[in-house]
Order: sequence, then C-alpha cells, then structure tokens
Amino acid sequence: MTTAQPQPPTPHHVVIVGAGFGGLEAAFGLPGAPVRITLIDRRNHHLFQPLLYQVATASLATSEIAWPIRYLMRDRPDVTTLFATVSGVDAANKRVLLEDGEALGYDTLVLATGARHAYFGHDEWEPFAPGLKTLEDATTLRRRILVAFERAERETDAARRAALLTFVIVGAGPTGVELAGTIAELAKDTLPPDFRNIDTQKARVVLIEAGPRVLAGFADDLSAYAQASLETIGVEVVLGAPVTECAADHVVYGGKRLDTTTIIWAAGVRASPAAEWLNAEADRAGRLQVLPDLTVPGHPDIFAVGDTVMIEAWDGKPVPGIAPAAKQQGRYVASVIKARLRGDAPAPFRYRHAGSLAQIGKHKAVIDFGRIKLRGTLAWWIWGIAHIYFLIGLRNRISVAITWLWIHARDQRAARLITQGSSKVAR
Ligand SMILES: Cc1cc2nc3c(=O)[nH]c(=O)nc-3n(C[C@H](O)[C@H](O)[C@H](O)COP(=O)(O)OP(=O)(O)OC[C@H]3O[C@@H](n4cnc5c(N)ncnc54)[C@H](O)[C@@H]3O)c2cc1C
Repeated sequence: MTTAQPQPPTPHHVVIVGAGFGGLEAAFGLPGAPVRITLIDRRNHHLFQPLLYQVATASLATSEIAWPIRYLMRDRPDVTTLFATVSGVDAANKRVLLEDGEALGYDTLVLATGARHAYFGHDEWEPFAPGLKTLEDATTLRRRILVAFERAERETDAARRAALLTFVIVGAGPTGVELAGTIAELAKDTLPPDFRNIDTQKARVVLIEAGPRVLAGFADDLSAYAQASLETIGVEVVLGAPVTECAADHVVYGGKRLDTTTIIWAAGVRASPAAEWLNAEADRAGRLQVLPDLTVPGHPDIFAVGDTVMIEAWDGKPVPGIAPAAKQQGRYVASVIKARLRGDAPAPFRYRHAGSLAQIGKHKAVIDFGRIKLRGTLAWWIWGIAHIYFLIGLRNRISVAITWLWIHARDQRAARLITQGSSKVAR
C-alpha cells in the first residue's frame, strides 16, 4: 500500500501587469523571495521612454532603447513572462482577465500599466497629431518627418512646400522641448547637404504651449534659458496659445491658422484603465488613487505603481509621472510583499525626488536639482551620462555613447530610415 506523499505548498503567486519601469523594478526586487512571479506585458519589450524622441528624430535605432522582456528575465527561473494584453481584473475571484478570454489567478497583483497621451476630449485629432509613447509611435513620427522633407523636395508649389517644411509640436514640457530642438538641428545641421531642390535650413519648427512658459515643471530661470536656447537654434516658441484644431494640412492655435503637414502631440497624458478595471476612484487624468502603502483602497492584495497612479507622498505634492518615481514605487512594492510574507508591517511609501532634466539641443540641457540648478554644456554632459547610465546593458551604453559622439562631431544621424511603407505612402 502506498501512502500519499505530502505536496510542497504552492508558492505565493505574484502577478505583475506591465514590464515598464515600475513593473520591472517590482520583479527585480523579488529574487529569492518565497514567491513565483508572472510578468505580463502586451509588448515583448521593455522601453526606455526618455530617449524615444531620439528614435522619432532619427538619432537612435529602436534596438538601442528597447530590450526583450524575456531576455531581461532569462536568469530568473522564478519569473514566467507572458506576452498578453490584460483587459480587466476579477478582484472577487482574484483573477486577471486577458483580452483573448483566458484568466490567471493571483495571490498578489501589481498593476504597472502606465499612461498614454490624451487629447483633452479631442481624440479625433490623433490621426493628424500623433503622440509619442511606443516604439511604433516613434517610427511613425520618424517616417512622417522624413517623408515631409522628401515630399518637399519634389513639390513645385511654394505654399505646399512651405506647409511640408513646417513642423509643429504641441506642448512644451520636456518631450516637446526635446523634440523641437532635435528637429531644428536635423533640418539645420544634418540634412542640408543631402537635398538638391530645397533648403532644409528654411524649415520652420513651431513649439506651441497653452501655458505661460516652456518646461513649466522647472524653475523660472531654467525655463527662460530653455526658451532662449530653442530660439537660438531657430525654434519659434508660441506661449499662451491653446490649440483648438488639428487637421491633415493645418493647425489652429490662439485663433490663428498655420498650414502644416506634420503636427506632433506632446501635451497631456491619460492613465491606463487600471482604475476602471477595479471600479476604483481616479483623478481627472484617470490615475488610480492609492493608499500610502500603494495598495488600492478596499483591495489589500492589489498594488498599483507608476504613471497609472496618483499619490501625494512628496511633501504633500503628487508624485510626478517620471521614470525614477515608477522605479521607486516598484522597488517599494517588492519590499512590502517580502515584509508581509515575513509577517512584518512596512512603513508607508516615501518618494525621493532626485531632480528634473531636459535636453534642449546637441550641446545644451537644463537640470533642476532643487537647490542646485545647472544649464548649458555641463548640464548636457550630466544629462548624457545619466541617460547612458540608466540604459540596460553594456552593449547599448557603448552603442548610444558612440552614436551621440558621432552626432556631436559630425552632425550625422544614421537612423534616417523611412520604414513601414514605400514612396507610395502619402504620409
Ligand atoms: C516620450 C516620453 C519621454 C519621457 N521622458 C522622460 C524623462 O526624460 N525622464 C523621466 O524620468 N521620465 C520620462 N518619461 C516618463 C516615464 O517614461 C514614465 O514616467 C515611466 O515610463 C512610467 O513607468 P510605468 O512603469 O508606470 O509605465 P510604463 O513604463 O509606460 O510601462 C507600462 C507597461 O505596461 C504595459 N501595458 C500597458 N497596458 C497593458 C495591458 N492592458 N496589458 C498588458 N500590458 C500593458 C505597457 O506595454 C508597458 O510596457 C517620458 C515618457 C515619455 C512617453
């Protein structure tokens, strides 16, 4: 007669949705913990969004700023990676619902699904004014920018050529400022020798902002410096002018119409639908309100981190939607999960702000560390070194450093590739 062998207890199952900065950091914080982890993402790669604008402006290649999630987790037998889209949460039965109809049980759930750009109730503008959030967005923008120059080269009508050579960026936060500065340099420094019928230096780059200054999150003097630097490289900065219409061939701002075929949206974000999945309270941008331990009210087994949440844990101010904040939250959640399994009660989440950085052009940046503020070439070097440091993997760090030195020395941007279509593609 055989006796039934006692089965080892099934380890606590942590499901992490989203392998962006927050989700990945939560997984990185759990090695050796008595858990098994399932990491779900609808993309197969982790993306370094702060350098996305460099792909959109033909400076870096896609593979320099993105890494397969499976590769990142190859040495972690405790992590199973799933390429799937989450469509909801069945909190009563502790299941994550997938778009293809399947469901996955969890003991602890971490929602780290980020945010997307928002059009302030004008979603119909999106086809004319695409935003920048994914690799596809970046290669689409790159195609639109490069195709505009190609079409201008063949255009004989002066007004149509001028519209093709007018690039409008809506929103003067860090992404808008970085895009405007780099497109201006592309037109003025990189492209001139390559074209015969047009003078790319005559291209207009117009940065439109509804608020009173560029880089509103930075100190006044840094934002004034950023504006002056943009104007020096030929960017036209328009302030206090909300955009009221975006179309295929024009934009309207502050009551004025400007003919353009390229509008880039860098204003406003909307959180992922995580709050809707849980029928939980959210702010106007759809960000889930979480408790000081980053759990969702009424759901002690569900955490939410990063751009999809709103929490006032920074001297009474909301934690900003930036990568270091998402990483700190992911790391904190990993520590809470481990503490709970040990039977400990963790301290509430506390955000530590390291500073804000923005690049303006090839040689200029601004850095706001609070008491210390830097601008100009020194800030640009610190900006570059910080971004290279935070990239994943030695190969990418070396590759990006060499590419930047090449751009710096020769004004050459090698990633000027029009992909996703032949010359028959209109835009
Ligand atoms: C263009 C741009 C420039 C930026 N520049 C800077 C900068 O210079 N410095 C800085 O600190 N921050 C910058 N940010 C902000 C920073 O990237 C975000 O704050 C950070 O990515 C937030 O991390 P997260 O983990 O919350 O979300 P994300 O990093 O966006 O990750 C979310 C993940 O969830 C996945 N996902 C979403 N929905 C689902 C679903 N339903 N099912 C499965 N998976 C899903 C996504 O595919 C993604 O991988 C920038 C952002 C953008 C868009």
